[in-house]
Amino acid sequence: MPWEPLTDDQLEIRDLVRRVARERIAPRAAEIDESHEFPWDVVELFREHGIFGLLFDEEWGGTGTGALLSLVAIEEVSKVCATSGLILAVQELGSLALKLAGTEEQKARFLPSLASGDTLTAYALTEAGSGSDSAAMRTTARREGDEYRLDGGKRFITNAGVAGLYTVFAKTDPEAGHKGISCFVVEADAPGFSVGRIEPKLGIKGSTTGEVFFDGCRIPAANLIGAEGDGFRIAMRVLDRSRPGIAAQALGIAQGATDYALDYAKGRETMGKPIASHQLVAAKLADMETACQAARGLLYRFGRMADDGVEGPELTKASAEAKLFCSDTAMWVTTEAVQILGGYGYVKEYPVERMMRDAKITQIYEGTNEVQRLVIAREMVRETRSSLLAGVA
Ligand SMILES: Cc1cc2nc3c(=O)[nH]c(=O)nc-3n(C[C@H](O)[C@H](O)[C@H](O)COP(=O)(O)OP(=O)(O)OC[C@H]3O[C@@H](n4cnc5c(N)ncnc54)[C@H](O)[C@@H]3O)c2cc1C
Repeated sequence: MPWEPLTDDQLEIRDLVRRVARERIAPRAAEIDESHEFPWDVVELFREHGIFGLLFDEEWGGTGTGALLSLVAIEEVSKVCATSGLILAVQELGSLALKLAGTEEQKARFLPSLASGDTLTAYALTEAGSGSDSAAMRTTARREGDEYRLDGGKRFITNAGVAGLYTVFAKTDPEAGHKGISCFVVEADAPGFSVGRIEPKLGIKGSTTGEVFFDGCRIPAANLIGAEGDGFRIAMRVLDRSRPGIAAQALGIAQGATDYALDYAKGRETMGKPIASHQLVAAKLADMETACQAARGLLYRFGRMADDGVEGPELTKASAEAKLFCSDTAMWVTTEAVQILGGYGYVKEYPVERMMRDAKITQIYEGTNEVQRLVIAREMVRETRSSLLAGVA
């Protein structure tokens, strides 16, 4: 038996997800990419097998199996289809504000249908003029009696048009900078809410990425998460927890490409022997596998820290490190996989060109990798650690 970082109970669930991914999702992956259609059949599979439940506590209808296993599930699905892995990652992303800052009443109202997968969710932070600089957002929310009125629009929202529930950030005090931002739950049938253009894009083509608009959109005041002005802090806490979901998607893509390239290299012969026996190809395979293992180390470390209840700057840094390293690994490894397949790597008959296209977004969304580096460096500067300079006059 190979050494495993997971417990027997965790392995049992991982193997169930792995089987569903390999038997039911892998045969659909190329078609999902080709058709650009949101894979409702995959959502149905996740519902049938209780896979959405892995993201939620037992109290709300989930399995209560923790953060590490959620990441493992996203990794397993993303090995065969990054669009499908993203469905799980975004179900977590869109639920986290409620989980971290919602009242018991809000959790009871919304979380059970997210845990079963009956309702899909989305996270609406980015606007046309504010991505990395999210505090520059212009969408506003004004209290009017028992309601809030939202005006503005969001861009690049994953699950636009398929989500039933949107976590939305808007300014309740436009003069107060990031302290004037608040967080809301907006249901898709709220009056004044609409979905705009869905973007054609390079990869993760089955996932919808689109605009959403709030045109005098009215929601109950009870849909405010936390207090007015808490929104920016909530948005950042959510990203600390959700970025590893993107890291898991990236690692899945990287490992899927490594495994595919290895199989190919064992079977393809040139100059009288399998290309895996040519040292330059063997070295690529070794570097790809090592990078995946290193990425997994950072990702699972985050999962264990989250399950142990670690909070604050230490968790922020571990989250950014996992996202940065797993996504850079995915981009590099998938490019190498295309190279190992030669001309066959570049054509659609083989999956590695799709994996390379899918990998790119993991370096961009949920905070670009430049932003992750800023976060890590900021925490390093803040930390008090002893160094070789300590004691030097
Ligand atoms: C497919 C897809 C899905 C997405 N899904 C969602 C979603 O569900 N919800 C959501 O809210 N958003 C979503 N986004 C938005 C995504 O998170 C942003 O695109 C991303 O954060 C970058 O913002 P931007 O595009 O405005 O780029 P900008 O912020 O304009 O950045 C442009 C470039 O400048 C660099 N840069 C910016 N500021 C700095 C700085 N201070 N120091 C160094 N470099 C810097 C960036 O790293 C980048 O390389 C999605 C985007 C895509 C493409």
